[in-house]
Amino acid sequence: MKLLSREQVEDLSKFKSEDFLTTSFYLNSDKSQMRKKEIALSLKNLLSQSKSQVEQMDTGKKNKESLYKDLNKINRFCSQNLSSNNFSGLAIFSCSSQDFWQFFNLPSPPRNRIIFDRNPYVRPLSAILDEHHRIFALTLDRKEAKWYDIFMGEISLLDSHKEDVPSKVREGGWEGYESKRIERHVATHLHDNLKKIARITFKLFKQNHFDWIFLGCREKYSSDFEALLHPYIKDRIKGRLKATPSDSQATLLKESLELEKKLKKQEEDEIIPRLISELEKGGLAISGLKQTLRSLNQSEVQTLVVTRYFSQPGRKCPKCHFLFADELNCPSCQRKTDKMLDIIDEAVEAAMDKNCQVKHVTSPSKLNRYGKIGAFLRYKT
Ligand SMILES: [Zn+2]
Repeated sequence: MKLLSREQVEDLSKFKSEDFLTTSFYLNSDKSQMRKKEIALSLKNLLSQSKSQVEQMDTGKKNKESLYKDLNKINRFCSQNLSSNNFSGLAIFSCSSQDFWQFFNLPSPPRNRIIFDRNPYVRPLSAILDEHHRIFALTLDRKEAKWYDIFMGEISLLDSHKEDVPSKVREGGWEGYESKRIERHVATHLHDNLKKIARITFKLFKQNHFDWIFLGCREKYSSDFEALLHPYIKDRIKGRLKATPSDSQATLLKESLELEKKLKKQEEDEIIPRLISELEKGGLAISGLKQTLRSLNQSEVQTLVVTRYFSQPGRKCPKCHFLFADELNCPSCQRKTDKMLDIIDEAVEAAMDKNCQVKHVTSPSKLNRYGKIGAFLRYKT
């Protein structure tokens, strides 16, 4: 299935087997960057590396058998589906002994990797979700308007509207009073049409959960049109498009995706200085692994900020689900904690589970000096 929402990732991260490990598989299958042969070769290498990893693993025979089964199943699935698949990436989660199997087609390429852990490794999925916003794109001119939903690199038309607004061309011979009358008539007609478009915009926006609005509108109409928009909509206009209703969907999508990428980069550039200034004035922010895990455990986190590809083993309490950098026993219930392969992945899961935002920043960034991880807090205890 297609990766579309954080609910899918939350559901996936709920899977856990007490006795068996789960295989998480990520493959870059971007055919615009690689030939089919290259993709097949990296798949082969990835699988054979993982097979030898299983051979050397210090775990029971049954667990190993389950992992071998996972790898074979993944291999079979890829050879059947990879050549017809046009997505940039593929993620598969499997635990054969529990009949657990889920795959996702990804809109952007992940790093190739296979991870064996107690539960599905979802961090790359969260990073992809963070890259994409649900965009409401509107293009309009004097006669026509079109509304689109853009998400995960795909576009669909939500609605369109067309009205025969007369143009401002003077009919032959009209002068003086008559010509002014026609101009007034045209202006009223145009105004009414923009009003209609503003109303439909509000209606469509309310029906869906969009993050951003992109507006493609000729400059000569934009101030009139924006004056008619509900303030709630106006505040969410994040970018301007050159596209008009006569442009193709492909043109609009291309422009929107470029703009999304640019805005995302800006957002990323702004978040670290914002976090650091909050940290330095002792405000609602925290940094470093231990502190961040502590705040997560206490549900203080509003936005978790992690460095892409930064990972570290850690520990988790099987009872309270609290996360720790190195506590052998849970300070809250005194139970022995479980060793986790990547505590950052657990932190991302916990954050998603607690409805926090998760932001992934590219290294090197100034966050490196603050322990590569941090968070904005809702409150501080
Ligand atoms: Zn505990």
